[in-house]
Amino acid sequence: MKRWNGWGDTTKHFPVPESAAAYLTQTIGPGILSPDAKIEMVLRSVPASRLVPLPAISSDPLDRLLHARGQSLPDWIALRSGAIHAFPDGVVYPETSQDVRSLLDYAMETGTVLIPYGAGSSVVGHINPAAGDRPVLVSDLGKLNHLVSLDPISRIAVVEAGILGPDLEAVLQPHGFTFGHFPQSFEFSSLGGWIATRSSGQQSYYYGRIEDQFLGGEVETFPGKISISPYPASAAGPDIKHLILGSEGRIGIITRAAIRIHPIPESEAFKAIFFRDWDTGAEVVRRIAQNRIPVSMLRLSDEIETQTTLLLSGKDRIVRYAERGLNAAGYKGQRCLLIFGATGSSNTVNQTVRRVYEIGLRHRGLPVPFMIGRLWQKTRFFTPYLRNTLWECGYALDTLETVLPWEKVIRVAREVRSILEHGLEEQHERVLAFAHLSHVYQVGASFYITYIFRRSPDPELTLAHWITLKSAASHAILAEGGTISHQHGVGMDHSPYLTQERGAPFVHALRSALLTFDPQGLLNPGKLIAATDKEVCDVETRMA
Ligand SMILES: Cc1cc2nc3c(=O)[nH]c(=O)nc-3n(C[C@H](O)[C@H](O)[C@H](O)COP(=O)(O)OP(=O)(O)OC[C@H]3O[C@@H](n4cnc5c(N)ncnc54)[C@H](O)[C@@H]3O)c2cc1C
Repeated sequence: MKRWNGWGDTTKHFPVPESAAAYLTQTIGPGILSPDAKIEMVLRSVPASRLVPLPAISSDPLDRLLHARGQSLPDWIALRSGAIHAFPDGVVYPETSQDVRSLLDYAMETGTVLIPYGAGSSVVGHINPAAGDRPVLVSDLGKLNHLVSLDPISRIAVVEAGILGPDLEAVLQPHGFTFGHFPQSFEFSSLGGWIATRSSGQQSYYYGRIEDQFLGGEVETFPGKISISPYPASAAGPDIKHLILGSEGRIGIITRAAIRIHPIPESEAFKAIFFRDWDTGAEVVRRIAQNRIPVSMLRLSDEIETQTTLLLSGKDRIVRYAERGLNAAGYKGQRCLLIFGATGSSNTVNQTVRRVYEIGLRHRGLPVPFMIGRLWQKTRFFTPYLRNTLWECGYALDTLETVLPWEKVIRVAREVRSILEHGLEEQHERVLAFAHLSHVYQVGASFYITYIFRRSPDPELTLAHWITLKSAASHAILAEGGTISHQHGVGMDHSPYLTQERGAPFVHALRSALLTFDPQGLLNPGKLIAATDKEVCDVETRMA
């Protein structure tokens, strides 16, 4: 069962290792504990539903609570404190495209706001209902989860969009194929959500980002169904797929998607190399990307993330072994860990590993023959569970990400890290911030920063601390010409920055498109951009 106020499956638990707890206490101070709200208390705060009743709609308070918030830090603060200011009035689980069509008709006839919901793993406030006069209905697409067709010759599958990551792999793999989209939220995120947020999986270097993997499909909108054929390529004007990618539930409901599938690779390996500093590691990673060495993933941690990852891994024996080996090899003190993956035929994998090791050695890197790469692979979807236990130890954790050209990326990452580290000095709080380069391209790379600070007994203060940090980091990223998001999307949290990033003419054009598909602003209002006058007014009130 999914946790109602945290990440993941209730049966999975990632305890904070003792060494890591000691490190956090020493770095940012002992965690501040305050009890979480009890679910019974939160359920009692769910107001009466305002929806025009329909047999298919559940107005059960538990259903409404489970669909009220996503996974951003403000969402966590609301859920854990029980101060959830707006609940949806009901939840509906369509099973067919026809059900989705009927839902849109219902929303239009009754003036109901409709929020498409994949699995609620959004980290930027994509699915939160806003308080207001109009009733809000969440459309949980989890029952739209079937394989519709699979063409092994063209390597195209058509799949219903509510399918979750593991279920998608489970329907493709018996046919000898994989989709290969593995975000860290893989367990609890959906195909439709990936498309609607322009997601990127951990092995995007091999399988592509979602925009490379999404070929077409069907989207139910108020004016009618959009059907997009999976053309291998087309010069017939602008590509409508790009209106759907990143549409964040505002244009319509994606009911099925045609996707590019790949034969299950014959072989796969995840390996590690240590470097003496981040700049050297980044130089190696850039050379790998620009020389088109066919790795499937690269993750280069900075010095602090390297140390923290080893401490948080909970594998004290392996860490001690690694420490001894590193010290013996002259890697005392600071070091940066590169984890890379190679995917494909055995031959390709062996050659890729050999070529990466060669470049690494030329830059005085230290390849690690033991477990670290394999350990990363084994725990890749498990590490987010640490967020639950860190919270329970009194710490709040959030992440942010952007992408920049190679020429700037390391400098800006360091600057943003430093802004976060010092961001709560006036409040006399310390922040632990660490970074890695995650997705790499020929011309640049994305960096991903995790930051941890102590909670406050007052949830409003924890939220205020988050706003201070997030806003300082976001302004710094934009000032350097970075995008407000490489993979998490816009939602509510990044919406105020979109005009600065994309410019007023683009935002104006996007607004016109949204209004064409949804003149009354019924589909997921308040996310991405303010389209209707009412949304503009709501944003102004919120900012004031
Ligand atoms: C622990 C953790 C790790 C993460 N790691 C990654 C990562 O590695 N890479 C990455 O890219 N992201 C990551 N994310 C962010 C998140 O998982 C992605 O944004 C994901 O794509 C959201 O999918 P979802 O199905 O949960 O969508 P939801 O959160 O339910 O919805 C997100 C948005 O998509 C819209 N939407 C969903 N389904 C549809 C549909 N069928 N039709 C129209 N609109 C729809 C919603 O209206 C909403 O605006 C992570 C999140 C967490 C909590």
